[in-house]
This record gives sequence, C-alpha cells and structure tokens, in this order.
Amino acid sequence: MLHFTCDCCKRPINPEQELRYVVRVEVYAALDPMQEETDDEHDHLQEIQDILDRLDDADDDRISDEVYQQKRYDLCSNCRSAYVKNPLGRVALHELGFSQN
Ligand SMILES: [Zn+2]
Repeated sequence: MLHFTCDCCKRPINPEQELRYVVRVEVYAALDPMQEETDDEHDHLQEIQDILDRLDDADDDRISDEVYQQKRYDLCSNCRSAYVKNPLGRVALHELGFSQN
C-alpha cells in the first residue's frame, strides 16, 4: 500500500480517508536573450536546456539548481489551503493578529 506523508506538516496522509494534493514548483532563471541573438522568437527554454546540457559535464548540482529547479510536494488538505493562500511563504499578517478584519 502506498504511504504518503504531508511534506509540510509531516502528517501521514491516508488516501482512502482524505484528499492528497500535489504541488509542483518549477523555478528557473529568467535569462535575457544574448545581444547577438535578437530573434523575436527566442526560445528561453531551449537556452536553459543548453545550459543544463553544459552543466551536466560539470556535475555540480548547486550550479544547476540555480538555473533550473523542479520540486514536488505532497500536501494534506490543511496545508494545501494554507499553501494556496501564501505560495511564496510570506509571513501571513492575519496569522500574527494584524488583520484589519
Ligand atoms: Zn499537512
């Protein structure tokens, strides 16, 4: 039987009793086109792929993580609703009691 744990609160998620949510985060460097390449249809993803191909040889995970990172998280329903409200992890003012409401 598959066993899932919420990556946020570490609580076990029983798929038979509750919904499990998956968050996929993709972060990549927004590379500006090289000056000599002024094509309107410049493909940034291809450019990133080219860099990744070059970095494969370097075998340095830290550098490639700075260019392109993809993460996948399992979330329980509670953490999912919290994440959706605050996907960037900023301090939620209402949770600190500063809400005007
Ligand atoms: Zn959770």
